[in-house]
Amino acid sequence: MEPELYDVLIIGGGPAGLTAAQYAARAGLKAVVIDKSPSAGALGFASRIENYPGLETALSGRELLDIFRRQAVNFGAKYVEAQVVGVNLSGNVKEVFTMEGTYSGKTIIVATGAMGRKPTIRGEAEFLGKGVSYCAVCDAAFFRDKTVCVIGGSEEAVKEAGHLLRNCREVYLISPSKKLGIEPDHPVLKAPNLRLIEGTTVTAILGGEAVERVRIVDSEKREDEIEVSGVFVYLHGSKPIIDFLTEAVELSDSDCIVTNRMMETSIPGVFSAGDVTCVEVRQVVVAAANGAVAALSAEKFITHKKRRKYDWGKVG
Ligand SMILES: Cc1cc2nc3c(=O)[nH]c(=O)nc-3n(C[C@H](O)[C@H](O)[C@H](O)COP(=O)(O)OP(=O)(O)OC[C@H]3O[C@@H](n4cnc5c(N)ncnc54)[C@H](O)[C@@H]3O)c2cc1C
Repeated sequence: MEPELYDVLIIGGGPAGLTAAQYAARAGLKAVVIDKSPSAGALGFASRIENYPGLETALSGRELLDIFRRQAVNFGAKYVEAQVVGVNLSGNVKEVFTMEGTYSGKTIIVATGAMGRKPTIRGEAEFLGKGVSYCAVCDAAFFRDKTVCVIGGSEEAVKEAGHLLRNCREVYLISPSKKLGIEPDHPVLKAPNLRLIEGTTVTAILGGEAVERVRIVDSEKREDEIEVSGVFVYLHGSKPIIDFLTEAVELSDSDCIVTNRMMETSIPGVFSAGDVTCVEVRQVVVAAANGAVAALSAEKFITHKKRRKYDWGKVG
């Protein structure tokens, strides 16, 4: 059976992607947001937002994100929680690949934010693909009945550990912080094959042909080593997330996606919005505005409209 053809495939469910979804759906386009997790983006991390216009009372980032999502879905956009692991941007119909399936669309909006990071742990780059991974959903099966570790203390790290627990014999969750970003009664923390180590940093990933162990140091500077076959890293930085973009969308020297003012990338039909672009100011209001422009550009691309000035009377 042919996969369903969407007008707009939106990768990322932060303020950029969800605003794009709202504008696309309101313009009558068939839109789907494919989002790794509401807790993995920058807004999901923000504890308090008080400068987003229209907010009279401060909200947590998650609360504001929930409003963005409800608004987009209420206008008819579909929201799917899945991690995008690859894309095919070469034809008229673009494809987005997740572990659960493939999505096809006439246009794509990339809105994955900038919570990625460059490898910083000794051995991380060397063992990438040889035991080091950033995607439990993609790679858990390679570590069936083995011992692995997850590095990070965020909700995303705990969820990914939960995925690995179903496949692996033992999962070490090594958090640099002494407090995890989840409730202490989270079910993952009760799993018999989870080993939680808090307030501890992984300083090196070691091995021969593949990963064999990690070196850790705790807050008292005591060193130890743990034998593991896999290392799943969920530490966050401020690097645009573009690892699934195997094809030649133009990037800047700092790996952000280059767009023009209409959020068009170097590939026709591919748009981008928010922190993943070379935007000067990383703020919710800017990401949302970018998302609106990207959706209207996608609409123009699909309907072959000449560039026109959008104003409140014509939009939606
Ligand atoms: C701690 C903190 C505090 C902040 N405080 C403020 C503030 O007070 N005011 C303000 O205006 N801004 C603030 N910001 C900045 C603001 O949060 C960002 O500018 C904004 O969230 C960017 O939106 P975005 O949609 O581009 O990206 P994000 O919010 O990062 O969303 C990206 C989305 O893409 C998803 N994603 C990533 N990779 C994939 C993949 N492979 N497949 C599918 N989905 C994927 C993520 O799960 C996430 O949901 C703060 C940021 C941080 C980190």
